[in-house]
Amino acid sequence: MALHKLFDRNVAWAQRKTCEDPTFFLRMAEQQSPKYLWIGCSDSRVTANDVLGLDPGEVFVQRNIANIVHTSDMNLLAVLEYAIEILKVEHVIVCGHYGCGGVQRALGRERSALVDHWLQPIVMLYRKHRAVFDAIEDMDARANRVCELNIEMQIRRVASIPIVENAWARGQSLHLHGWIYGIHDGLLRDVGPTLASIEERDALISIDQRVHRHDEPVSGVRGHAIDAFGETTETE
Ligand SMILES: [Zn+2]
Repeated sequence: MALHKLFDRNVAWAQRKTCEDPTFFLRMAEQQSPKYLWIGCSDSRVTANDVLGLDPGEVFVQRNIANIVHTSDMNLLAVLEYAIEILKVEHVIVCGHYGCGGVQRALGRERSALVDHWLQPIVMLYRKHRAVFDAIEDMDARANRVCELNIEMQIRRVASIPIVENAWARGQSLHLHGWIYGIHDGLLRDVGPTLASIEERDALISIDQRVHRHDEPVSGVRGHAIDAFGETTETE
């Protein structure tokens, strides 16, 4: 697509928005007050607003390759601090996705680019528990299992950042969530853990222990079915 077409699409989008809601951009210009911070993968198929069905203004976003939380990442720390202390978001969601190219690369042999430094926490997790992961013969299933655990690992990291600890210590309402998105079906699944306090964080089992326990992530569709019919119903 030629670049000028993007401007045409932008004009069409802005006109459509204004038609649907004449004061939309007037409200946007005043302030943002998102309730959610999304820490997700840079993958072009996983855009926070689309996946959540939210409008501009409703979710604060930080994305990087394989949704990794490096606790020395100034970009992430600045976003996190602004989200929690100024915007006062109530939920921080780390959302990964199945079929993540970053995770697949971390499981492979190639180590020649800056991205391999970035992916190192996943590489280290994989190496440490290689016997468990390599026992999963299907390569996609193996990578997807690492995708799930990567999310759980990053939630533990978010929960250890002083910005989050301080928010909890002063009684601010702040919930952390680990979710995974299925590119193949468009559905989010809850991987966990969900945390709302230092006590809950400290009560978690370690990521090394989690490697040995696999709970099936629960989508919204399945969650509703479980609520209605009990655990045994399979709808996926
Ligand atoms: Zn990805």
